[in-house]
Amino acid sequence: MKTFHCNRCSHLVFYENVRCERCEALLGYVPELAEISAFEDAGEGRWRSLHPGARGALFRQCHNYAVENVCNWMIPADSPDTLCRACQLTRTIPNLGAPENRLYWYRLEMAKRRLLYTLAELGLDVKSREADPERGLAFEFLEDSDDGSRVMTGHDNGLITLNIAEADDAYREKVRTSMGEPYRTLLGHFRHETGHYYFSQLVENNPRWIEPYRKLFGDERADYGEALTAYYRDGAPAEWQASYISAYATMHPWEDWAETWAHYMLIVDVLDTATSYGVALLPDDPSEPTLTDRTPVEDASFDNLMKRWFPLTYALNSLNRSLGMPDGYPFTLAAPVVGKLRFVHRVIVEAGDKSQPREAATPPAKATPASAPRRAARAGAGRTAAARPVAQAVVQTVVPRAPLPSANPATSPPGTEPVAQAVVSQGADQAVASADSTQASAMQAAALAEPPMQSEDAAAKEARPKRTARRR
Ligand SMILES: [Zn+2]
Ligand SMILES: [Zn+2]
Ligand SMILES: [Zn+2]
Repeated sequence: MKTFHCNRCSHLVFYENVRCERCEALLGYVPELAEISAFEDAGEGRWRSLHPGARGALFRQCHNYAVENVCNWMIPADSPDTLCRACQLTRTIPNLGAPENRLYWYRLEMAKRRLLYTLAELGLDVKSREADPERGLAFEFLEDSDDGSRVMTGHDNGLITLNIAEADDAYREKVRTSMGEPYRTLLGHFRHETGHYYFSQLVENNPRWIEPYRKLFGDERADYGEALTAYYRDGAPAEWQASYISAYATMHPWEDWAETWAHYMLIVDVLDTATSYGVALLPDDPSEPTLTDRTPVEDASFDNLMKRWFPLTYALNSLNRSLGMPDGYPFTLAAPVVGKLRFVHRVIVEAGDKSQPREAATPPAKATPASAPRRAARAGAGRTAAARPVAQAVVQTVVPRAPLPSANPATSPPGTEPVAQAVVSQGADQAVASADSTQASAMQAAALAEPPMQSEDAAAKEARPKRTARRR
């Protein structure tokens, strides 16, 4: 995620912001520009953008911004839409009769907008169900019902369902520990499920990719139900870290793809953020992990991304441990996993290239897209109220401990597959042996922001997919 600045006072502002902290200008995201803009009131619900790329164009706030306080995206003033592109993708919102559901909804939408930002950055098309009923994307935010029926988070032919309980930190942490996962976040759910979606869009029926995919990930025609049963009966193979990004990835080739996809998105987003802030690592001993390269992630080769990734995770985890937080990056990337990530990179690069030039989805009146226009999420879909209160399980958090990374990539011979030796972490309570360390984690980027509904939610943690996958 790049950095943004207030167009009125130049103050640093963030993707989730709605007001400039310094000059109090209204802020909003303009997807056509891929920019946060400051606005001045033009009356009658219209706002004039102060962003140079918009050239004084008028906008309106998304209904979910102006009224519901769960969005900060803007719509061209002459658009017939009431919802922004991001909100249009949500087909079912939580039942707002339950007080906590509004906060959960806010968190879900925030994670979804972050997902959309990275997808746009990668040049991936996001079509709504309304624009493309066959192949479009839609989200449903549902909750368990009192009669005991459970909402399964998953993807089904472009429809992504999220159980809103995942937006309840206590619940999510309880599930994370019970599942033995080192990592479980809302954003990770979105990334994982869209991985399933893009598999069907880009790989499944693509003769160029399907066989190479099967060589790396396995044959996705294997019976999913059987694989699921076996996984929950037997667990992951003992040596799964040697070939998989997560235990869950061992379940079925579809899940391996979705996990790897989610991880690729995590890497790109974190590196993008670090690059935008000018993060550099310049240790006194140059043989230690060093980071000075600032190639924009969208222009970076896969090897370049990997080369920068290890030093960053090393520093990230160390910083988090100093904060007394769990590791922000509790993963190990073995060579086969890096190979799978490389494959995801190739698929995405080709998909992005194919769409060149990217359509500048409905540029705002008089506005000129600032840079490479992003693909639009010309979406559509009504909203319906759903469900009921979320079970508020309050559970203790058990944080797995993990060793600090040990290998030094600087010593890797050139040309070898760079392996990010970040922290290993296993199942929840199985503290990983070795180099005892403190815990660490929580991406802080969003913690700097001030969401409309505030605070506790700030930490935008990273990827961690779900369990209850339902494919097709
Ligand atoms: Zn300002
Ligand atoms: Zn919106
Ligand atoms: Zn899945």
